Amino acid sequence: MKAIVLFSGGLDSILAACLLKRQGIEVVGLNMITPFHDCSQEAQKRAEEIGIELVVKSFGEDYMKMLAHPKWGYGSNVNPCIDCRTLMLRYAKELMEEIGADFVATGEIAGQRPNSQKIHQLTLITRDSGLGGKLLRPLSARVLPKTDMEIEGTIDREQMRAFSGRGRTKLSAYARQEYGIKNIPQPSSGCVLCENSFSPRVRDMLKHKELPTLWDARLTPWGRRLRIDENAYVVVARRSEDCEKLDELFASPERSRCVLIFPENFNGASALLVTDEAPDFGDENPTISERLKGYVEISGSLALRFSNPARYNASPDGPMAKLFLGQTSTLISLHENYAVDEIPIIAEPNRPPKKKGAQDSSADEAPREDESLGD
Ligand code: SF4
Repeated sequence: MKAIVLFSGGLDSILAACLLKRQGIEVVGLNMITPFHDCSQEAQKRAEEIGIELVVKSFGEDYMKMLAHPKWGYGSNVNPCIDCRTLMLRYAKELMEEIGADFVATGEIAGQRPNSQKIHQLTLITRDSGLGGKLLRPLSARVLPKTDMEIEGTIDREQMRAFSGRGRTKLSAYARQEYGIKNIPQPSSGCVLCENSFSPRVRDMLKHKELPTLWDARLTPWGRRLRIDENAYVVVARRSEDCEKLDELFASPERSRCVLIFPENFNGASALLVTDEAPDFGDENPTISERLKGYVEISGSLALRFSNPARYNASPDGPMAKLFLGQTSTLISLHENYAVDEIPIIAEPNRPPKKKGAQDSSADEAPREDESLGD
């Protein structure tokens, strides 16, 4: 028999895989990469340690549809856990059919997580995933209804476990005693969609776009996000890593309409302006509307707000940036505008607004290459 096990590399999924292996079942792990989270490296390491094959897949745009309109709503933040688990299991079902596996298993434990693992939630997930009796939760199987495999006798229910609830002490002891696992993975800090500090960015994305794309989601973790109005927001780099990411996302053919503003004659923050006013990816001779001009000006001032004045004022020509739009680029001048200090950063503590003429403390924190560009 062959089973697909949803495999994050956490303790629960490791134990689910070990339990099945012990019954002589061939286990293939499936690790899912979301636009916000990639634990595939850790999962690969853990899969090798316990001797199972691992398949890594990324969600498609169906993930965004689920995130924007979850059938069962969100948990305490923007985490649509029931729908998210269901979608992961649909991918697992697809893989099961593709490689001729017999069933799917997960490391879910009844009652362990309040947003997706209460017994009635597990029942919904089982039903909506389309797996029905082909979904086994080895760590809690004895407190859950029998699966097809247990009814047929191809899985020995007596060898399954009856863990339930939130505590991990018994689970860790079981891992040590039964499988000699010494290096117990720490409980995951959770997905960023559950985090107070991150979720406002996702809320902002969902509020302003009926159906955001994977590209929109991939942009959310980077830089400082500032909303100009309903139709435009800017991401200003904080570190050199952000600058690289903004470049990479701008070069992606899947990108939403956006323009990139890159410092030309000083070392400072680059900015990605995302707005429907921006030209198409393929435009060789894009026209710039008055509205886009206004957005670019504000974005340029925001780039200066987070750059070091000692650097951008050093050039006799004043701060210049290269504006990338469509397939072309042009040079523009950037201007300080203290009104942009009023635009709040979404999901980051705001610095006190910079007063005209006041000494900017960021000048003392001048970034070096590969260091923070401010804050
Ligand atoms: S915590 Fe995040 S990754 Fe896990 S099920 Fe919920 S939304 Fe999905």
